[in-house]
Amino acid sequence: MTQRVFRSSKIVASYWRELSFEAAHKLPEHPSVHGHSYRVRLIWSGIIPTTGQLISEQDALAACSAVSGLLDHKMLNDILGDPTCENIAKFILCREEETHRASRVIVWRPTVGDGAEVCGV
Ligand SMILES: [Zn+2]
Repeated sequence: MTQRVFRSSKIVASYWRELSFEAAHKLPEHPSVHGHSYRVRLIWSGIIPTTGQLISEQDALAACSAVSGLLDHKMLNDILGDPTCENIAKFILCREEETHRASRVIVWRPTVGDGAEVCGV
């Protein structure tokens, strides 16, 4: 059995932070306004810098706080078109100022048991 050895410069790490928000929406297949509890995971990936952190804890917390500020207790249809989990995740990922350039976003609804993940390419 051979053991695989990686050079540290070839190892990519991911760090994430999670947040929750509550919001209302309506969709074509569910046209009545209703609410969901959402969970969001912001993920930063890359080669581990000399600081040992892909993002500082302070910046990660600020990113989560900014996303909560944008979406918590809002009517999602007023903010983005067709607020599915996929579109919510895309909306969050595209707001680089708020997310401090997260490379992936996962949005899910724990009580429903579904979700979506988007990443930049
Ligand atoms: Zn819904």
